[in-house]
Amino acid sequence: MARTALVTGGTRGIGEAISIALKDAGYTVAANYGGNDEAANAFKEKTGIPVYKFDVGDFEACAAGVAAVEADLGPIEVLVNNAGITRDGMLHKTGLENWQAVIRTNLDSVFNLTRNVIEGMRARGFGRIVTISSINGQQGQMGQTNYAAAKAGVIGFTKAVALEGAFKGITANVIAPGYVGTEMVRAVPEEVLKTQILPRIPVGRLAEPEEVARCVVFLTADEAGFITGSTLTANGGQYMV
Ligand code: NDP
Repeated sequence: MARTALVTGGTRGIGEAISIALKDAGYTVAANYGGNDEAANAFKEKTGIPVYKFDVGDFEACAAGVAAVEADLGPIEVLVNNAGITRDGMLHKTGLENWQAVIRTNLDSVFNLTRNVIEGMRARGFGRIVTISSINGQQGQMGQTNYAAAKAGVIGFTKAVALEGAFKGITANVIAPGYVGTEMVRAVPEEVLKTQILPRIPVGRLAEPEEVARCVVFLTADEAGFITGSTLTANGGQYMV
């Protein structure tokens, strides 16, 4: 029987490409989203993938969301922690609100979701957890202390989960994309993109969301059981760890 995969933030941007790639690879996919009903409904219409609206930063909402997906589609065997936001600004201008919003949505969310699926994965002896970090969690970035902290945090979290799950058939891995042409990056001023970002990418372009999705499908495969605790970079050669 097809394995069930939950993709957070799975209705737009990179998450949309991940949801579609997993469906194409034979998974039964559930796509979570946070608030953009219009985009979610258009996605559902286009792909036939069911959508689940809940806030990944809210533990109880995640517990209820996981329960709803499992009631509809069966146990979640693949979790893709993809939902994320940016609230950029230099540290000396960053308020507590923007710090907490980014930590909550990008880091707390990974605990909230993983905690709610891990017991089932342990009981069944199989699980694949993939979390989307960022090049900026590896190298740091001006104006992104909050985002870099959250994205580095998920790498440490994943290594610990990988150790805990290793004897239970559960793998946990991170993908650290470079700059991908989604709304998140289009929010960066054109001038900054042209003069500061593109010249630093050796392949000379932004990534396509599908290029990240391909990494997810690789790591979620049954055959990928020996790959755990790793960080797979997909950044066009911009930063080599
Ligand atoms: P987008 O802004 O295009 O999409 C974000 C998705 O996350 C949407 O589906 C959104 O839902 C969902 N989301 C946001 N907040 C919440 C929340 N509180 N609860 C549930 N869902 C939420 O982002 P990208 O596709 O660009 O980014 C996806 C991931 O990849 C993020 O983790 C990002 O940090 C990471 N990343 C992105 C890079 C890039 O260049 N774009 C580079 C490196 C990493 P809704 O539609 O309802 O708003």
